[in-house]
Amino acid sequence: MTRSRLAPSPTGALHLGNARTFLLTWLHVRAVSGTLLLRIDDLDGPRVKTGAAVQALDDLRRLGLDWDEAPGVLVQSERAAVYDAAAQRLVDSGLAYPCVCTRTEVESAASAPHGAEGPRYPGTCRGRWSSLDDAKRDTARPAALRFATTPGAVPFDDALFGAQAFDPAAETGDFVIRKSNGTAAYQLATVVDDAASGVDLVIRGADLLPSTSRQILLQRALGLPTPAHLHLPLVVGPDGRRLAKRHGDTSIRTLLASGWTPDALVGWLAWSAGLAEPGARIQPRDLIPRYNPANLSRDAVVVDASALGPRG
Ligand code: GLU
Repeated sequence: MTRSRLAPSPTGALHLGNARTFLLTWLHVRAVSGTLLLRIDDLDGPRVKTGAAVQALDDLRRLGLDWDEAPGVLVQSERAAVYDAAAQRLVDSGLAYPCVCTRTEVESAASAPHGAEGPRYPGTCRGRWSSLDDAKRDTARPAALRFATTPGAVPFDDALFGAQAFDPAAETGDFVIRKSNGTAAYQLATVVDDAASGVDLVIRGADLLPSTSRQILLQRALGLPTPAHLHLPLVVGPDGRRLAKRHGDTSIRTLLASGWTPDALVGWLAWSAGLAEPGARIQPRDLIPRYNPANLSRDAVVVDASALGPRG
């Protein structure tokens, strides 16, 4: 039976882009009577905003989206011990290593131009120390942990985007699994949590397609199953870039406060996915019979925030 999750990051307000992903995730799981879990991705300390998680859950509920209460909400900031244990297993098996390079050092050492995923780590610290204690004794610097990637493309099938393959060793190089402040990095946390909660279908934004290959490497290294994947196209601004603050305020909270009703917002999201007529007002549960994953489009959805305007 399908088991998936909603995983909001409380680094900002829930906006049309996240809401669209969550609505389609909800529809996909409810259409097959699967289980939908909730996880709060609040590991990105400096970027996490107080109250944003509570607000995101409130926004989801107002839109008519729910999740299954059992076995409970996973809050990533409460799971450091679980991530530490997984990171330690990788260090013990020689698949992860301490790295004391600063971001500036990595940027200046990277020879190739930076891709969308940032500079490729050239492997400066690989093989230097076998334990964090050794790294600390030698350098007196806080050490991150990096996963030792193996060269080669890591293929997977995406339910919407089809056959995919990214080469983590070539694209990001050995990537961080625990930051130097001791916090688990997204790649490790998501892999550990998806396995711990029995998630067998990951549904999320297409910006995470390249991450999937990294996550598959981690799953193999930790002996964890690889779930199926369905990535959804992003909502972008008129400039073709992922929806963000510079495009204006498209947060669900602001739209609701400016006169959009939840039904009208769900109608807009459904229209953007070809599930409703323009201007429709509808509740998520009424979309279930119309939802067919075979009809999903791979095209990004362009939204001009200024055209959304207030609604009465
Ligand atoms: N928290 C991530 C996001 O909001 C999703 C991570 C995931 O689904 O793996 O984009």
